[in-house]
Amino acid sequence: MGRKNGSEPPGRCRRARLGLLAAAGVGAEAIPVWRRGYGLGGNVIVRCRRGHLFTTIWIPGASVKSLRLGWWRLQRCPVGPHWSLVTPVRPSELSEHERQEAALHRDIRLP
Ligand SMILES: [Zn+2]
Repeated sequence: MGRKNGSEPPGRCRRARLGLLAAAGVGAEAIPVWRRGYGLGGNVIVRCRRGHLFTTIWIPGASVKSLRLGWWRLQRCPVGPHWSLVTPVRPSELSEHERQEAALHRDIRLP
């Protein structure tokens, strides 16, 4: 209907390359997360700008409830409650008490 057959649609190659770039971006983010021992694609302890600790789901490259800013992301802190920039923290850098605090506070079950 209207489109001529026989040749690739002009946008196709570009879209494939964009997909590849997106995949590379996910890898670039996932690998350091994984290598630093934060866990990958699951529950990660994060700290907000006010020092609150809570557990969230951090899936590299995928998020619907937060605004991604590279290593940081903007999301709702359930401890505040308030909006804040949060960043992952290594469980090994926390005291037992801090780990318990983080485990007590979980945000909604969405990436
Ligand atoms: Zn907070």
